[in-house]
Amino acid sequence: MNEIAENLAAVRAAIAAAAARAGRRAEDIELVAVSKTHPPETLHEALDAGQTLFGENRVQEARAKIPLCAAAATWHLIGHLQSNKVREAVQLFSLLQAVDSLRLLELIDRAAAEAGRTLPVYLEVNVSGERSKNGLAPQDVPEALAAANRLTHVEIQGLMTIPPAAREVEEARPFFRRLRELREGWRRVSGLALPELSMGMSHDFEIAVEEGATMVRVGSALFGPRPPKGVRDAGND
Ligand SMILES: *Cc1c(COP(=O)(O)O)cnc(C)c1O
Repeated sequence: MNEIAENLAAVRAAIAAAAARAGRRAEDIELVAVSKTHPPETLHEALDAGQTLFGENRVQEARAKIPLCAAAATWHLIGHLQSNKVREAVQLFSLLQAVDSLRLLELIDRAAAEAGRTLPVYLEVNVSGERSKNGLAPQDVPEALAAANRLTHVEIQGLMTIPPAAREVEEARPFFRRLRELREGWRRVSGLALPELSMGMSHDFEIAVEEGATMVRVGSALFGPRPPKGVRDAGND
C-alpha cells in the first residue's frame, strides 16, 4: 500500500472505532478527503484506494483541478463562497457545504435554477459566536431554513461547523454537541429533516463522530501537511 492508501485505511478505522464507541454504524459516516493545495496526482492515489469524495475550499483552485481528475471524483465546496463565484461553483460542485448567509442561499438558488439543477447545500453555523469566523449565528438559522420553502433550486440537507481553534482536542466537543442539539429545535420549527452534520477535521474527527457527525472533512491526516497559509493565499480567491 502507498502512504495515502495507508492513511485512508487508518482514518477509516478510526472513524469506525469512534462510531462503535457511540453505538453508531461506520457506514453512516461519510469521509470527505480535503484535497486543497494538493495536485491531481495525489488525488489519484486516493481515488485508486477507493476514495471518491473530495473537498476543496476555493473555486479558483477547483476550477483548475477538477478537469484533471478522474470523472469518478465528486466535489464539495467546503470553504466560504464569494457572491461573484456562485455561478461557477454551481457548475463545479455537487454540494456546497459552507453557505453562511441568506443572501448567498438566494444567489445559489437563482444560479442553480439558471443551470437547470437543484443543488444540495449545508448551512455553516458559527456555534461559538466567535467574531472572526464565517458562518451564520445560531439565531439567524431559522430565517434561512424558512427560506427553503420558497427557494426551489436549493435543498438544505444539513449543517456544518468549524469549532474555534483550541489547544486540547476535547475542547471541540461542546461545539459539536451544541450543533447537534440546535438541529433538534431547527428540525421542529422548519419541518426539514436536516439529516447531515458535517463536523470534524484531522485533529478532532473522532470526537465529532462520537457527537453525531455524519460527515467528516479530513485533509492533512490523509495527504500530509499543506504549505503555510501565507504562501498559498498569495493568489486571491
Ligand atoms: C482545510 C479544511 C479542512 C481539513 O483540515 P485538516 O485539518 O487538514 O483535516 C476541513 N474543513 C475545512 C472547512 C477546511 O477548510
